[in-house]
Amino acid sequence: MALTVAIVGRPNVGKSTLFNRLIGKRLAIVDDTPGVTRDRRYGEASLGGLSFTVIDTAGFEDASDDSLEARMREQTEAAIAEADVSLLVFDARAGVTPLDEHFARLLRKSKKPVILIANKAEGHAGSAAALEGFRLGLGHPLPLSAEHGEGLGDLYDALEPIA
Ligand code: GDP
Ligand code: MG
Repeated sequence: MALTVAIVGRPNVGKSTLFNRLIGKRLAIVDDTPGVTRDRRYGEASLGGLSFTVIDTAGFEDASDDSLEARMREQTEAAIAEADVSLLVFDARAGVTPLDEHFARLLRKSKKPVILIANKAEGHAGSAAALEGFRLGLGHPLPLSAEHGEGLGDLYDALEPIA
């Protein structure tokens, strides 16, 4: 059965870096339906022996402050709806912000499985901030470095039982 994984979270936490790390160059070709897929990218990911479709939520760069929150919510909810499991990414160096809490609420409401990722945690940097992630009420934060490729074995272990 095909597994679909959504990567969600506030801007700048490393979602696209994780997406690129997971897909290599296997960017999926999708219908360019105006207004529908504009803010989401799809790729074919491979991790250990697991193959799955991964969705990157992106593209708020051109949003005004007014429309930003509504658009983030809209496309995050759309990505969650399409996915079997979501990866909520936060920045382990910055710690938990009010916007992270906002995303955590959306995900808790979805009642679907969530894996909480404390990114930018290479070399154990930010491990104190990573522990703050417990506050989000989504279980144990999984320390990872999308940029350096650390923690992917633990991500595999978390995804494998869901696949
Ligand atoms: P997005 O807005 O959530 O998609 O975030 P990006 O993937 O664009 O990354 C935002 C910034 O964080 C970029 O400058 C990345 O190079 C940086 N970044 C991403 N992953 C890591 C990581 O694991 N460690 C560190 N130190 N920086 C990272
Ligand atoms: Mg991005």
